[in-house]
Amino acid sequence: MSAPIETPVSRRLASVKNIIIVLSGKGGVGKSSSSVQLALSLLSQSPSNRVGLLDLDITGPSLPRMVGLDLPEATVHQSSAGWVPVYVDSEKRLGVMSIGFLLKDRGDSVVWRGPKKDGMIRQFLSEVRWGELDYLVIDTPPGTSDEHISLLTHLHPLFIPNNLKPTTPTSILITTPQITSINDTIKSLSFTKKLNLPVMGLVENMSGYVCPCCNEISNIYGDQNKVFELSKKENLNYLGKVPIDTNLVKLLDSVSKGEIPITSQINSSNQQNQNEVG
Ligand code: ADP
Repeated sequence: MSAPIETPVSRRLASVKNIIIVLSGKGGVGKSSSSVQLALSLLSQSPSNRVGLLDLDITGPSLPRMVGLDLPEATVHQSSAGWVPVYVDSEKRLGVMSIGFLLKDRGDSVVWRGPKKDGMIRQFLSEVRWGELDYLVIDTPPGTSDEHISLLTHLHPLFIPNNLKPTTPTSILITTPQITSINDTIKSLSFTKKLNLPVMGLVENMSGYVCPCCNEISNIYGDQNKVFELSKKENLNYLGKVPIDTNLVKLLDSVSKGEIPITSQINSSNQQNQNEVG
């Protein structure tokens, strides 16, 4: 048997049991909100679970705001063992890393070309001191851009069977039922095939609208079966659907304003997901 390929990235991520890459063909379909919901849901599965959330949207980071950490004091510390992620909770069960924590002014724009983004992504993968993690959820920008290619290039050693790591990274695709989003999802699927990235399944977000008055769901995008049909055609799991819910918008707004801690959602998100996915 040939010697394992060891890199700073594979050494660092050897303490992570599962890596889930969250993808979407189109922007604004709820990929970052789904990444946060997924992380909360994984935490709810077991009180001993530890989860990391890595924001790879270098030019448009939104995770700090979404988890209520868009605060001047939420900064990344450098220790001798690497960058310490920003923890959402005192038990350090949910750690977050984002370029948003590294900007002097949170309103600053990041206008970088591919090589500079690649350097940042390599550092995120090789220098963050996550410790033992059950899951690392990686939120990516929409589409298939420089960031995705960098990510998969640096993760490459983890795709070699038995190469230092018990599991191979996998991905989840988020789409709305709108035809433009589905068409872009098909492009993302083609990307995953070209790069041999396994796909765990599809999530249909913004599937219908929940009336805040009567809770009735209206199928504003018409035919509701398209995402399900795509999953069957591509032999992928249909992981479930989440309607457009004004309560979710209010909740995310309250968390980002610091009115509610995101940790208050750890148990209820699990319940919510069980109700919605099906
Ligand atoms: P993306 O990461 O794909 O660009 P976001 O997760 O930032 O998308 O979501 C875009 C907007 O849609 C956010 O304001 C978010 O609160 C809202 N949103 C996402 N999913 C839902 C949903 N199921 N119901 C209502 N609003 C949603």
